Amino acid sequence: MTQTYNFNPGPAILPPPVLEQVQRELRDYQGHGMSIMEMSHRAKEYEQINAEAEARIKQLFNLGDDYRVVFLQGGASLQFAMVPLNFLHVGTVADFLMTGSWSEKAYEEAQCIGEVHIVASTSAEQYRRMPQASEMSFSSNVAYVHITSNNTIYGTQWHDWPDVGDRPLIADMSSDILSRPLDAHKFALIYAGAQKNMGPSGVTVAIIRNDLLEQAATSAPKILQYATHVKGKSLYHTPPTFGVYMLNLVLEWIINSGGLAAMEERNQQKAQVVYDVVDRSGGFYVGHAVPESRSLMNATFRLPSQELEQQFVSEAKSLGMVGLGGHRSVGGIRASMYNAMSLEGCTVLADFMDTFLRQNG
Ligand SMILES: *Cc1c(COP(=O)(O)O)cnc(C)c1O
Repeated sequence: MTQTYNFNPGPAILPPPVLEQVQRELRDYQGHGMSIMEMSHRAKEYEQINAEAEARIKQLFNLGDDYRVVFLQGGASLQFAMVPLNFLHVGTVADFLMTGSWSEKAYEEAQCIGEVHIVASTSAEQYRRMPQASEMSFSSNVAYVHITSNNTIYGTQWHDWPDVGDRPLIADMSSDILSRPLDAHKFALIYAGAQKNMGPSGVTVAIIRNDLLEQAATSAPKILQYATHVKGKSLYHTPPTFGVYMLNLVLEWIINSGGLAAMEERNQQKAQVVYDVVDRSGGFYVGHAVPESRSLMNATFRLPSQELEQQFVSEAKSLGMVGLGGHRSVGGIRASMYNAMSLEGCTVLADFMDTFLRQNG
């Protein structure tokens, strides 16, 4: 097999030991003579996977019975609509902290359903940083405050959670969930599509605090109510069984690798080798994010010209580093370094950045 360093933004790299286990078990899941894909979601084998994945998420986030975990479909994008359908009641306002394109998408969906308000936005600064407390103004009759923990496209991340007082805090953590220890009790609801940092596309994880769940509207179609999926233990209808199976293996890999503290330590080392090259390049590489808001997951930077950026992407590709082109709305380079990316992969990238600078700077 050719050595590839996968910097794709999502769907993204998965831990090699997980892929190897999936391959081993593909035709014959634990001696059943068939793939897990071919089994009923009501079979005890699948129910065990479903329960194990839920328990592992609770274990990693230190959550007890006051939170419920469900596996859904429709990606984070469906959550943009489900959250207001369930929790944005008439007479209340959904407050948004706008930090990038995904915040905007979440805001637009909520706007279709009820009243919305922007608490603070850094859009005028091309979302280079997170808003500061002094810039934030909350609604008085707030239903919840919505944030995007990591801005996949702009390459910024909340490093200190905004202080929202006792307002319910809801976070889209699609691109940095499980990348660092988390005080999950700060949040009333966390959701994330699996395909960046947790598994394949097609599965979405939602973690909901009971007190929020109890306030959910009962007017929405049943399939769009969190309560339906909680009550059905994620088996209200056919779940994405293969995706949940893979997610469960990724969770096991995280736990066996030392948990969230170990993930964070490695993610910090990885990001540092890449940002160090940016910082000592004398302005050849220009980071999009201000240093205090830099994402450990997605490093975004520009080169002196678009021609050099194209050359950078294609030379990197010829050396096995793929997925480095920036998002079409921002341009430049984006290196996505999710949990499964090795320190070695980031070092190979940093060495290439040094060489490219010497040859073209
Ligand atoms: C990728 C991404 C989304 C969109 O996820 P889908 O699963 O495609 O709906 C939403 N939010 C963030 C932060 C993302 O990175």
